[in-house]
Amino acid sequence: MDVFTPLTRDLSQQHLRLARELLAFKRLKTYLDFGCNSIYQWAICKHDLPPQETRAMVCVAEMLETLPALRAAAEQGRISWYKLRLLTPYATEESDEALVHLAGQYSVDQLRKALRYLAAGLNPDKDTEKIVTWKLDVHTIVLFEHALRKLSEQQQRRLSTNEALQRMSALVLTGNCDDAALQSCRDYAGLDILAEKARELMTLRDLPEELKDQVPEIQLVKVADLPPWENRLLRFNPHRHPLTPAQRTELMRRDGYCCSTPGCQNTLWLQVHHIVWFYHGGVTVRGNLAVLCSACHRMIHKRLLILKGRAPDGLDFRDRFGRLLRPPPDD
Ligand SMILES: [Zn+2]
Repeated sequence: MDVFTPLTRDLSQQHLRLARELLAFKRLKTYLDFGCNSIYQWAICKHDLPPQETRAMVCVAEMLETLPALRAAAEQGRISWYKLRLLTPYATEESDEALVHLAGQYSVDQLRKALRYLAAGLNPDKDTEKIVTWKLDVHTIVLFEHALRKLSEQQQRRLSTNEALQRMSALVLTGNCDDAALQSCRDYAGLDILAEKARELMTLRDLPEELKDQVPEIQLVKVADLPPWENRLLRFNPHRHPLTPAQRTELMRRDGYCCSTPGCQNTLWLQVHHIVWFYHGGVTVRGNLAVLCSACHRMIHKRLLILKGRAPDGLDFRDRFGRLLRPPPDD
């Protein structure tokens, strides 16, 4: 039988309360008042809650609305949060009661093992999945992310890893992929990796002096030796609004193919924004251009989000009340 202490009960009930608050915030779109485009960005900016944790909480709170037995068990503190989180993805109206019974009989670890065999019976949708662990090198990861982004943008929706792999396989099985193409893709990814290292170094620049001594010398030497990832021949015309594909690529690479807004982790539908708007006299130069996702870009043009400063490392994002999106740690 499960060992359930008052501490576990308190923690679980607090998790449930937070999950319900997050769901209410999501439905009321309260995050817009904080300059955030989603509840996930709000949770990361204001509470340092990782997006996957927030996603799980919102999902559990939403599912419990249709699962009376699990809901009652959660409210009365008869099931721990971790079990709830583990079981709700498998729960249906039919399996609701049985899962509460199961939660009372097994530990979290036992439940995880039991679910491998019970999943198909509890929720047939979970039957065809298999978790695979691959060891990939950094070039492969960068190339896969680019391919996933391109396929998702072609399809006008975010594809899952599963869907992307099927489409990539179909492409290979019906076309060809020679060594020259592979080499050029790897070279492209190599520049992305250098740009990523440069960004990591930027964060080291802000380390307090006493901690800077802790950075291994070898790392600093390697950093100084990094070949430039920027295209030195690339020029920006300050008075021309549209960007060339090469200019766009360089800015995407600099900003890590991710929205620059704090806490926003969107890597799709990225756009380049003039920090001082072009029609307010802003110029097309690297320092006045920042990569944003379409949602954050829209927020800026609706004035729900205010962006000032200089790209890439002097950006200042505030909500419409003037509050910083991610306040300094001592605030
Ligand atoms: Zn964004």
